[in-house]
Amino acid sequence: MTLISYPFSAILGWSASRYEAFSFCKRHYYYQYYPKFDAEFPVAKIQALKMLSTRALAVGSISHMGIEALLKRLEKSTAPIDSNRFAAHLTQLADSFIKTNTFDEAHYGNKPLPTAEELSEAAIEYLNLFLQSERYAWICALPESTRRAWMIEPGGFGETRINSLKAYCKVDFLLQHQGKTYIFDWKTGKADPEKHARQMLGYALFAHTNLGVGFDQIELIIHYLNGTETQVDIQAGDLPKFEAKVQADTQEMHSYCEQVDTNIPKPKEAFPMIEPQKLCGYCKFRELCDRG
Ligand code: SF4
Repeated sequence: MTLISYPFSAILGWSASRYEAFSFCKRHYYYQYYPKFDAEFPVAKIQALKMLSTRALAVGSISHMGIEALLKRLEKSTAPIDSNRFAAHLTQLADSFIKTNTFDEAHYGNKPLPTAEELSEAAIEYLNLFLQSERYAWICALPESTRRAWMIEPGGFGETRINSLKAYCKVDFLLQHQGKTYIFDWKTGKADPEKHARQMLGYALFAHTNLGVGFDQIELIIHYLNGTETQVDIQAGDLPKFEAKVQADTQEMHSYCEQVDTNIPKPKEAFPMIEPQKLCGYCKFRELCDRG
């Protein structure tokens, strides 16, 4: 499968997570996306906070890496999984995650640091459910010929264009079978039907723009790793509505740029903090706002 690659452009690109940060708190958004422009704190300090992980993020990340390993193995072999070896692999991933990441819990000293065993146990539980799922059995039963074109956790950020605007929509897994393009998103968190359905529409536009796939050939599947699955049907009017939202979101974010084309933000004062609230207690930048 050959993806379109776009020449570098500095202008900001819409993504669901970027706009979510923007809507949540403008100051959080500033620290997340414009740390090098801050005159108050060293960029290295902001970057270090930006990279803080949490127990939930770690379990999600290790589970995604576990599925990636399973699917990459399936590309070559459908031999049964050795569950002990697979569990050992997840433990190794958890161990390496602990060693290479700083946890919010450790930095702020608010909760005990998760251990590699706790993280791998949670990921093993998710992955066991995945291995027992009808979806995994369906993937295993696909003809070998489909496997040559699987897109498993593709590199990069899923750059695309939505109505000519730069956007990022990175799929977890995409495959083509019997004239259909199946797009999967693996989720470890709670179901949020509206938000997740919107995210899947972004993936549909990505497949349409970057792979030339017709919308009527796209199947969008959210697979929750607690064992449930939801199919998102594209209804008439969904895509124009989504495109209009991306356009409005982008314009709103552009209005916080001093220079739109080069993505230079306005001064930090233009990005206000929210009123002190419980959510600040979960924000990785809280020490910069003196809300630790
Ligand atoms: S601590 Fe609160 S005000 Fe400060 S960046 Fe985070 S969410 Fe915004």
